[in-house]
Parts: sequence; structure tokens; C-alpha cells
Amino acid sequence: MNTQLKPQTIQLDGSIGEGGGQILRTALSLSMLTGIPFELVNIRAGRKKPGLMRQHLVCVQASQRISNATVEGAELHSQKLYFQPQQVQTGKYDFQIGSAGSTILVLQTLLPALMMQAEASHINIHGGTHNPMAPTADFISHCFLPNLQKIGIQVDFECERAGFFPIGAGQINATIQPWTTQTQYTVLKKGKLIEVNGFATALNIPSNIADRELEVLNNKLDLTQRKRLNFQGISQGNTAFVILNYEHHQQVFSALGEMKKSAEKVAHDLAKQVKTYLATDAVADEYLTDQLLLPLALGKGGEFSAQMISEHTRTQAAMIQKFIDCEIHFEKIDDIFKVSVKI
Ligand code: ATP
Repeated sequence: MNTQLKPQTIQLDGSIGEGGGQILRTALSLSMLTGIPFELVNIRAGRKKPGLMRQHLVCVQASQRISNATVEGAELHSQKLYFQPQQVQTGKYDFQIGSAGSTILVLQTLLPALMMQAEASHINIHGGTHNPMAPTADFISHCFLPNLQKIGIQVDFECERAGFFPIGAGQINATIQPWTTQTQYTVLKKGKLIEVNGFATALNIPSNIADRELEVLNNKLDLTQRKRLNFQGISQGNTAFVILNYEHHQQVFSALGEMKKSAEKVAHDLAKQVKTYLATDAVADEYLTDQLLLPLALGKGGEFSAQMISEHTRTQAAMIQKFIDCEIHFEKIDDIFKVSVKI
């Protein structure tokens, strides 16, 4: 990693760009990694209910715990935070979100700092595993982590219990290995499409919801395989997801069941997203694009093609470049983008 450190205490404004929770999470990750303290004001100013929500607060507390940080302003709804980390400690950790807040976003906050240590860490996180506006546990297992594996990052991940809103009560377990062999990520072409596989599950609600979704997905996408999954957990919920296997890439699209939205409509909307992606030459979808930037910037960089560059991605790029010396560029080529991360 190229950590040509910039001066002490970085001042950050949480209202820049998208003005969401990612600014906080990325600041925590990079502060722990570089040892640079930060002061963040206007936390989540771009959101209807600004300030720290439960999930964000757990990200702060979990980061504080693994880095023995000095923290001010870590309270619910707080719009200002000071965070000064010390040395990151590997080990075995258990974090409770205490609501259906996303366990995955907490994991993504801690991962960069823990994977750069010399020893492995084991983390259990309790809360939501299938949340709107966050990667699902399935996206992490079948898309985010397989892509990180390509650059040498090794994480054993399992979703022991699924947790859906509002009860949550899910659990994810992750073992994060030291990142010893770093390689560049260069995936500009996804290659030939090999399989389109569909999965669905209905947890503590009628299983025909999942069957109906799989039926629609099969009709629209001509699935290679389809499977109804049995999740464990005490909450109620439904998710469907599609794994696209290409010669050089694996991409996942997922959807969550919603009150007053039929299973058919959930699957129809998911199939539409997949078809839009199938019609482009891009490798990474909108979400994988923003999630790849930080791991690439911490390793040897790389290049990939992206379906779109969201405001979220631009904000993430700006945040990363505040803490570490790297260059992140987006270039439009026809109807897709080329993303390059240079170290
Ligand atoms: P907020 O400020 O509203 O609290 P947040 O902290 O919950 O926001 P965002 O800042 O919006 O979250 O970040 C959400 C993260 O979840 C992003 O990294 C995005 O890529 C990811 N994400 C959102 N939807 C999906 C999806 N359908 N599949 C995969 N990843 C997703």
C-alpha cells in the first residue's frame, strides 16, 4: 500500500457529494489504516434523517473497539464526530447492531484495516443481512468477495442466520486473513456468458413467494439453474438474486420482497436490472463499482469497465484521495465507463 500520509487531523464535510453514510464509513476505514485522525461535520446531511443512525453508530463503535480510538460525538443523531485511532488489534470480535441495521456495512468498514494486519481476525456481527440500499449477504458471498479474491484478499464469509427488516436478528461470521499477495485488478472485458442462475428464499413466510419469483426469472432470463434456498432466522422476509457467471467475471443482482409488492413484480424488476446489464459490455455494475475502489486503492490499483458511475462512486473516490496518494479516474467510452485506480 502506498500510504504517503497527509497532515494530521483531516477535516471532513459529510455533506459533500451524495452526503450519505459512506463518507463516515470510508473515513473510519482509512483513518484506522493510516492512523490519521479525522473530524467529520454535517454527518449524512444529504439524508432525510441526518446524523448517526444505529447502523452508523455501530460502525463507529466497532472501529473504536478494534483500533482503541479516542472518539467524541458517538451518539445517535450526532452530526459531528472526532475519531483518533491507535494501532489496530486483530482478534475475535462480536458486534451487536441491536436493530435490523446492515451487518454487511459494518463488515465493509472494518475489513480494510483488518486485512492489512499480520494476523487473521474473526468477526461475528448481529443485525440485518438483507437490507434495502446495502449489499446483501448473497452479494457479498457471490460478487464482492470473489472479486476481492482476484487481488489476493481472503475472507471466509458465512451468513449463519438471515436478518430482514424490522426484526433483523441475523448473523454473519467472517474470518479475515492477512493480505499477503497483492495483485492488480484488470478486468476490462467480462468474456463469454456461461451461466445465469436464479435463487430465491422466503423466510417464515409462504414458500410459494420464492417459487413464483423463480418462475418469473426463468421466463424472462432463461435460467441455467434455479433453486429455492432455505435460510435460517427468526425474522420474516424474502429475497431473490441472480448470479451471472462470465468467463472473467461474476456479477450478482439482488432484490428484496416488499409489503404491497407482488412476488411477480419483485422478480420482474430484478430481471429488468439483469437484462440492462446483460446488454452492456461493462464488467462491474453500479454497486460493485463503488465497493471496488477502496480495495484497489489499498493494493496495486487496476482498471475495470463499469456500467455507470453513481454520485456515490464519485464521493467515494474523493474520500479515498483525501487520505491516500492515488489517482482515480473515470472515462466514458461509448455507453460504459473505464475506471482506473493508479497508485
Ligand atoms: P445512508 O446515508 O442513507 O445511511 P447508507 O450509509 O445506508 O446511507 P449508502 O451511503 O447509500 O448507505 O451506501 C450504500 C452501500 O450499499 C453502497 O456501497 C452501495 O454500493 C451498496 N448497495 C446499495 N444497494 C445495493 C445493491 N442492490 N446491491 C449491492 N450493493 C448495494
